[in-house]
Amino acid sequence: MIIVPEAAIADLMTREQAFDAVEKVFASMSRRSAYNFPVIREAIGHADALYGFKSGFDRDSLALGLKSGGYWPGNADKGLTNHQSTVFLFDADTGKCRAVVGGNLLTALRTAAASAVSIRHLAPKGAKVLGMIGAGHQSAFQMRAAAEQRGFEKVIGWNYHPEMLARLADTAAELGLPFEEASLERIGAEADVIISITSSTAPILMDAHVTGGTHIACMGTDTKGKQEVDAALVARATVFADEVAQSISIGECQHAIAQGLIAEGDIEELGAVINGDAKGRSSDDEVTLFDGTGVGLQDLAVASAVVDVALAKGVAVEVDF
Ligand code: NAD
Repeated sequence: MIIVPEAAIADLMTREQAFDAVEKVFASMSRRSAYNFPVIREAIGHADALYGFKSGFDRDSLALGLKSGGYWPGNADKGLTNHQSTVFLFDADTGKCRAVVGGNLLTALRTAAASAVSIRHLAPKGAKVLGMIGAGHQSAFQMRAAAEQRGFEKVIGWNYHPEMLARLADTAAELGLPFEEASLERIGAEADVIISITSSTAPILMDAHVTGGTHIACMGTDTKGKQEVDAALVARATVFADEVAQSISIGECQHAIAQGLIAEGDIEELGAVINGDAKGRSSDDEVTLFDGTGVGLQDLAVASAVVDVALAKGVAVEVDF
């Protein structure tokens, strides 16, 4: 069995590799070659923790396994990250455990890769202004991955906790882009691409804020009860998702569905666009929206890629198991 510890991941996975792995697995999901198993997520009644599994199988790559982990709110006081996750890969021919891979950095990379894939396939080609809503841990990963997809000239951003905006300013500076704090009205009017990555439980970006064509990647809503975008804006947009089943149950679309504003059939898979089986954006004036709920197959795809690189570089730790 191969072990790839968390500390080794940064040297083994690039943004480009994460992008390729995620784009491929979205395409496999849409061809029905890969499927996610139902998500388990439980409050365990200890340490205020939320713990769960995301799992699946890709018949094309033979990636089989699960990501196990969750959220421990008291971890910061112990010098640990609140979100903790580990990926377990199994041999699809024998069921033997093939690898255990640290999942924390991989989660950030695969989540940023998902919105970047949506930007590549759905954003206006001439996009110049990137709007960021959210300035937490994931936001920096999101901005770096998005910046590789279009020739952005400026980043504008808003956050519920304005004192956190320094993270967006620092990340934009690292990318050589100017950054300005902006109102939601300005983001909705000016940004050609908007990424929302918050833990909000009420809509932040309202229908009236968005006045022109844009692509919105909704990345924060991954649980029942969370919400970042007005349901009326979801209803007005052309909607794509990583997986429709998750989008309507734990993703941004849960609210528009519950209010009867859209139907399940109104949501297209991003993988269908990647495969050329569905149309993406029709015009620069259109509002496209990607509901990136985060699927287990993304985790398996990036973890498998990491194991391949670790083996190729001769740095994989192998143990008898
Ligand atoms: P974080 O705790 O570092 O940051 C939280 C962000 O949400 C900050 O910008 C904060 O200001 C904002 N926020 C907190 N309470 C808010 C409120 N009431 N209204 C509006 N904004 C509020 O978290 P993170 O690691 O950056 O993750 C952000 C979100 O992304 C979380 O909801 C997380 O569960 C989600 N996430 C999604 C995926 C996916 O695949 N879709 C993957 C990882 C994380």
